[in-house]
Amino acid sequence: MDLMRLQKNFALHGFSYRYFETRSEAAAYLAQQTAGKFVSFGGSMTLDEMNLYDILKPHADVHWHWKGDGYVQDAEIYITSANAISETGEVVNIDGAGNRVSATLYGPKQVFFVCGINKIAPDLSSAIERAQNIAAPKNAWRLFGNTDGDAVCVNADDPVPACTKAGGDKCYHCTAPNSICRAIVIHQGPMRSQERCELILIGEDLGY
Ligand code: SF4
Repeated sequence: MDLMRLQKNFALHGFSYRYFETRSEAAAYLAQQTAGKFVSFGGSMTLDEMNLYDILKPHADVHWHWKGDGYVQDAEIYITSANAISETGEVVNIDGAGNRVSATLYGPKQVFFVCGINKIAPDLSSAIERAQNIAAPKNAWRLFGNTDGDAVCVNADDPVPACTKAGGDKCYHCTAPNSICRAIVIHQGPMRSQERCELILIGEDLGY
């Protein structure tokens, strides 16, 4: 991976960019940036592994549906991760319900994409490939699979996505009612309605 190339291309695309060696350094920076603000989180294993909700909550009005706070679309600051980022300067996310990607597109004036280095792909096509064949099946498995290796549906009446039957190994381009892949959003730069859209890259593996 070429971090200099990635930094240069994210700047060319108009994104802000910060790099931290560790998740704790990144969390400390985000605590500083969000203090006293109205903040919403997107569903993200990266944020969960960083324990970011508990770190920010004492200093900011933080809402995360994963913690029972309800989903907030119109916060001042939105924090989420990405399914992939490219060294050529793009952010790729796949979504099923749409709430996670919609807040990255419109509403909050500041958006932070928080990503471990495992999310980096060399170019846009390989970033899409990563999102489809690594991130999405693992997320589908988290939602609809179980750790014993058998496909288990949350609701027995609903057909499970094909990737969960295979253990989340790759995408089978299913059309299952529970498919979590309904939209692929590629950010090529900050939205015109945003004051800041920042990639926070962390030198660790985080999330899927
Ligand atoms: S098999 Fe279906 S749910 Fe699984 S990653 Fe592919 S499109 Fe998404």
